[in-house]
Amino acid sequence: MKSLWNEKEADACKESDGELGLRAYSSRLLGADESLVLAGGGNTSVKLSEPNVLGEDVELLYVKGSGWDLSEIEPPGFAGVRMDHCLRLLELPELTDAVMLNELKTHCTLASAPTPSVETLLHACLPFTYVDHTHADAVVTLTNLADGEARVRDVYADRVLYVPYVMPGYDLAKYCADLWVREGRGDLEGIVLLKHGMFSFGQDARESYERMISLVNQAEDYLRTQGVWELSLPSKESPPHLDAPSLAALRQSLSTVAGFPMLLRANRSPRALAFARNKQWTDAHKRGTATPDHVIRVKRSPLLGRDVTAYAESYGESFSRNAEKVAGGERLAMLDPAPRLVLDPELGLLSAGRRPSDCAVAEAIALHTFDIVERTEALGGYEPVGELDLFRMEYWELEQAKLSKLGTPLVFAGEVALVTGSASGIGRACVNSLRSRGCAVVGIDLDSAEPAIDYLPIVGDLVDSEFVEDSIAKAVEAFGGLDILVLNAGLFPPTQRLEELDDETWSKTMALNLDANQRLLRLCHPFLKLSPIGGRVLVVGSKNVLAPGPGAAAYSASKAAMTQVARVAALEWAASGIRVNVLHPNSVFDTNLWTPEILEKRAQAYGMTVEEYKCRNLLKTEVSSHDVAEAACELCGPRFSKTTGAQVPIDGGEERVV
Ligand code: ZN
Repeated sequence: MKSLWNEKEADACKESDGELGLRAYSSRLLGADESLVLAGGGNTSVKLSEPNVLGEDVELLYVKGSGWDLSEIEPPGFAGVRMDHCLRLLELPELTDAVMLNELKTHCTLASAPTPSVETLLHACLPFTYVDHTHADAVVTLTNLADGEARVRDVYADRVLYVPYVMPGYDLAKYCADLWVREGRGDLEGIVLLKHGMFSFGQDARESYERMISLVNQAEDYLRTQGVWELSLPSKESPPHLDAPSLAALRQSLSTVAGFPMLLRANRSPRALAFARNKQWTDAHKRGTATPDHVIRVKRSPLLGRDVTAYAESYGESFSRNAEKVAGGERLAMLDPAPRLVLDPELGLLSAGRRPSDCAVAEAIALHTFDIVERTEALGGYEPVGELDLFRMEYWELEQAKLSKLGTPLVFAGEVALVTGSASGIGRACVNSLRSRGCAVVGIDLDSAEPAIDYLPIVGDLVDSEFVEDSIAKAVEAFGGLDILVLNAGLFPPTQRLEELDDETWSKTMALNLDANQRLLRLCHPFLKLSPIGGRVLVVGSKNVLAPGPGAAAYSASKAAMTQVARVAALEWAASGIRVNVLHPNSVFDTNLWTPEILEKRAQAYGMTVEEYKCRNLLKTEVSSHDVAEAACELCGPRFSKTTGAQVPIDGGEERVV
């Protein structure tokens, strides 16, 4: 591990935002390294003196606000809490965490400040301007060993203080404050929290940050001398063919026990497969998380194999067992019992969550835990914090508050859609509308698009059946299944009267608008059937189905045939809970189908100007791709959960259809 300190960047941050800018800068350096902190973990602070509105100097502790991630924290991410009040709180014999947090929130300088970290008082009691806290992999590797304390004492001697595992919050702060009174010294560089992490401190930002790096380096060096730093090499053979239906079935079971749809992201890298196939490691992983606050992201244990029901039962038993043991436990409501991590010898590492980012966080935590488990197992055995302590953490109101800040889930949270023709026009608008409702989306198009954590664009030709099969497997691998299928891709050939219509144009139009869609329906059916709340198919038809236009025989016929296929699908698949509906858009001109030339020709065919042609509907309105996409989402959403086999025009009102 190297120091990332850059004097120029540090100066620039200090220049623009003062000491707090510098505090944010070195916090981001810590946050940039996942082997130090993951997923909003860790916290940092700086003590400053600032004049208040009365002109009096006030000692403040600027501490990371909960909900902020160190990797991207900015000055507004720190809450300024009055130091004198923090220190007085530490003189109390005891304090509940809820009251502590209320005191901290009501003693901030800004009403709009984020909620101060639950570790605020620990930062306050340390007499250093800068304090940094991480859950460094190397440190928790050593402290999650049975003889962890002896080993870290070997490594650090009297450079740091040692604290046994104490629940974070007031109790831990109080413990550290008392310890500091007894053993604190100005030349100390940090505090090791057994089975939890590391604090470093210093009189300036660089000193505190570089002490953290140096302390972590020492732990890494120790692991090297013990011969466990190099991890085992996973086999080079490529992963087995993905059993996509099994993965989707597992996702369905998980969603059922959770009570809501969940995404399931597969990692079948050689490392993930090697870990999932090693019984010693997976059994060890089951003992708990590497540092306590991971428990709110991944629960205490991963599911080994695929028996979700047994996992949920055991989770329920563990809840009852532990709720009895904690004060006020009878008032606790059990969280959903679905695992967030699955280790399966064939499917690899699977991470579950309602949002793609939840899956990514769980996966990152798992990958770091893999290293910690492998090294601790080689050194005598992985011994993380015990079940009861992790239960306290998982059901700690302050931890739960962190999650509730993420807000209520969106309507398609945990669901996956496949959209064809996704790079432009109605398809792209559908991708956007689905994503804005929390859906994870896979797009297929001949043109590329910018991927994102909730969007997997795949480039290829829908008439290539092997490519389509492969794309569906990719969708399942990325998100765990398929809930919504939007059949949008279409070909609109140039205007040709029947007597001129050549065979090639006819077959090409049918191949995409009809054959490819029929094939997609067949290939997606096994997955739509496994959708936790019932699959949905949305076919983008055309006004031409009900009112064909001259010169568009191939297009009109292909769309009419596809509409008929959709109606049959609605009949056949209703028993599997799959709804199939058709939208018939017209006058949608912000799509690739409508080049200025085509528009001109069509207008001519109707004896109109382009402008007249565009608003050629009863409402005299222009219909946009976005309008169609929003209607498509609504048809797939809960408001139309009782509707299947419907054909809805979205065309501004068409005289020939009405
Ligand atoms: Zn911590």
